[in-house]
Amino acid sequence: MPSGSCLCGAIAYSYSGNPASKALCHCLTCRKLTSSTSAMTILLPTPQFNLPDTTTSSEHYRTYTAVHETGVELTAHFCANCSSVCWKTSEQGWPGFVVIFAGTLNEAEGGKGGVAEVSPEAELWIKHRVPWLKSLDGGEGDGKGTVHQFEGFPPQ
Ligand SMILES: [Zn+2]
Ligand SMILES: [Zn+2]
Repeated sequence: MPSGSCLCGAIAYSYSGNPASKALCHCLTCRKLTSSTSAMTILLPTPQFNLPDTTTSSEHYRTYTAVHETGVELTAHFCANCSSVCWKTSEQGWPGFVVIFAGTLNEAEGGKGGVAEVSPEAELWIKHRVPWLKSLDGGEGDGKGTVHQFEGFPPQ
């Protein structure tokens, strides 16, 4: 069962089954939330997401609600001790799902089970992709590759 945590370990999670999708997101909100050029994300049905009591009762577990550039309200779930943002939720944007920031996945022995095994099926918000980062659709950016390219959120 894949598991993950914030940097200090106070906020942990695991999940079962297969994600609904896996996408590299270039949106401006993910950029700020994760302080990275883009964020590797896992869209997971909420029933498959497991939080241990140590997370939900942790004094470090915090949420922060922000408004995405599209106007959709979303909530980031993060650790107040080490500040890692671990996942986000949105009743307006993706009800019934959590979006895990895959960089918080734990690496198992031999490098198995971590973010390396979460290969993206799509790129979102490619209009914000930094110009020095190549498209994942095969490197040509022509949309003919296997990683779907979306200008914004994928159509639901
Ligand atoms: Zn932490
Ligand atoms: Zn995003």
